Amino acid sequence: MIRASTRLFAVLGDPVAHSLSPGIQNAAFRQAGVDGVYVALRCESDTLPGLIRGLAQAGGGGNVTLPHKQDAARIVDDPTETVERTGACNTFWTEDGRLRGDNTDVAGFQGAVDVLTGGSAAGASVLLLGAGGAARAALVGLVSDGVERVVLWNRSVARARRLASELGGTGTEVVGSLTEVRAERFDLVVNATSLGLVDSDPLPVDPASLQHPGALLDLVYRPRETELVRRARAEGISAADGGEMLVRQGAEAFRRWWKRSPPLEVMREALERARESETPSTGDP
Ligand code: NAP
Repeated sequence: MIRASTRLFAVLGDPVAHSLSPGIQNAAFRQAGVDGVYVALRCESDTLPGLIRGLAQAGGGGNVTLPHKQDAARIVDDPTETVERTGACNTFWTEDGRLRGDNTDVAGFQGAVDVLTGGSAAGASVLLLGAGGAARAALVGLVSDGVERVVLWNRSVARARRLASELGGTGTEVVGSLTEVRAERFDLVVNATSLGLVDSDPLPVDPASLQHPGALLDLVYRPRETELVRRARAEGISAADGGEMLVRQGAEAFRRWWKRSPPLEVMREALERARESETPSTGDP
């Protein structure tokens, strides 16, 4: 029930009307019996600072999605080290009177890798496709997990080079073309490009052209299995889409707002229900 004491949380983005986060978070709030409600609010850059501060100061908080994650990183008073490294903030709340910001996409990515591979990326050799916000979060997660080697490919090679030099450390190298790595076997392949969001997209990579990788994680998610995941599974490769990462980043946000363990299974079930009834427009939280 919504009362005068109910804390208000919101996902702020543009577009945001098809976000799956309200379904996931409200199911988690109900299960945990916490006095909160979660909505989606479309907003532009000039209204973002006021909304973030207002929601947090009123005792609530929220998430930030495309295209505002970088702006949010500059708005919060106390960014975590993860926000500073990625330059992006997707979760905010007030603590001890200060506006705090974190980037739970990193923990969400790490959790999704754990579930898919049965362990962390420590010591792994990884092919990472993309150099945008999701690839940044993935690279920070891989490096902090102690990955041995990351081969980075992106359509704009210069952007991949910038990302590798900023965040990659010594084990990261950039390739200009995927043909350069055809003979290599990777423990994990990650699609962090936005290819796959619409049916007409080409595959970012053809799984059949790779040396049977250990696993493939597509950060894109859609109501049904993505074409990349379908093709990988057809090759006998263990594969998953971005649903688990979405649930995990939301679960980590829940933990920061409510200082208690998130009901992960309920959040997964809510995602599946939301996927059956909605068609997300961006695939991002
Ligand atoms: P972004 O910052 O806009 O980056 C887009 C990336 O896709 C860039 O690397 C871009 O390459 C590449 N790209 C776009 N169109 C392409 C094309 N036609 N051919 C080749 N590469 C292309 O977006 P983002 O925030 O990183 O998001 C990327 C994907 O991850 C989205 O599908 C998003 O939904 C998903 N995501 C999922 C989660 C989750 O929780 N599961 C969280 C965050 C994001 P250029 O640099 O060359 O433009």
